[in-house]
Amino acid sequence: MDSIPETSSPSMPVLTDLASLRRWIADCRAQGEQIGFVPTMGALHPGHLALLQAARNATQRVVVSIFVNPTQFGPQEDFARYPRTLEQDRALLEKAGCDALFLPDAALMYPPGFQTTVQVEPLGSDLCGRTRPGHFAGVALVVTLLLHMVQPDVIVLGLKDYQQFVLLRRLVQDLAMPIQVVGVPTVRESDGLALSSRNRYLDEKQRHQARCLYQALVAARDMRRSGQTDPLVLEETARQILEASGVDVVEYVALRDQVTLLPVTRIQEDPVLLMAVKLGTTRLIDNMVLSVAD
Ligand code: AMP
Repeated sequence: MDSIPETSSPSMPVLTDLASLRRWIADCRAQGEQIGFVPTMGALHPGHLALLQAARNATQRVVVSIFVNPTQFGPQEDFARYPRTLEQDRALLEKAGCDALFLPDAALMYPPGFQTTVQVEPLGSDLCGRTRPGHFAGVALVVTLLLHMVQPDVIVLGLKDYQQFVLLRRLVQDLAMPIQVVGVPTVRESDGLALSSRNRYLDEKQRHQARCLYQALVAARDMRRSGQTDPLVLEETARQILEASGVDVVEYVALRDQVTLLPVTRIQEDPVLLMAVKLGTTRLIDNMVLSVAD
């Protein structure tokens, strides 16, 4: 991780320990200010900044955290090579009006002797959880910890990670946390590819192929709009577009209830179509609520 020079951040505090985080929170509370929180793993892009903006609209003060959380990566996954662009991230956040950056290290989050786990089941074993066992337990654990540390009034999450959004909303509700959960629509490139820190792994050919996720989602949405109500037909249409693009693996294409993420057998409410593919070693996910109207 890059080091942050002491003098590089005159207005946006970079909080690396719990005592300074708690002092900063107490100051906000003393002013009667509400706190919005945006957890991230850094390598920030305009999708993250849309979350920051939504938090700024919802509360007077916004904390963004950057922590590449080891417990949500599987042993064969990209934890070691996950992009780390701290100095650039810090400058972006400061320019975008972030009030404080919480930058814990692994020793702060998981001190020696740590034993606790957080499971949100069966949601955490479905969809992405099938190919990434333990991933959502890692996400649930780190977000529970971060929420206890930051004690925000509002947490802002991206709908790009739709299963994560539903799972964390469930967790906040189940554990009776007095926190509002806000979801922000996916920010996309001009050709529809959802912004992701992992897009930088794609070579030119894969970047071209990656457009298939959005194309598949739009095709299914348009089909629904022309009256198709059979979930299997909608899923199959999307799957064929993914397969035709030559991606290496189509992990899943699933039409689900947008609130519970349970399978839908008959479409009543607007369902969500979720998908995951692999291009080489890079795994990309995307989703879209198949609404009848915009
Ligand atoms: P990450 O840094 O990838 O863990 O993501 C941090 C937060 O940013 C999560 O709530 C993501 O859902 C959200 N996010 C990531 N990419 C996008 C995007 N393209 N549009 C909106 N939110 C996003």
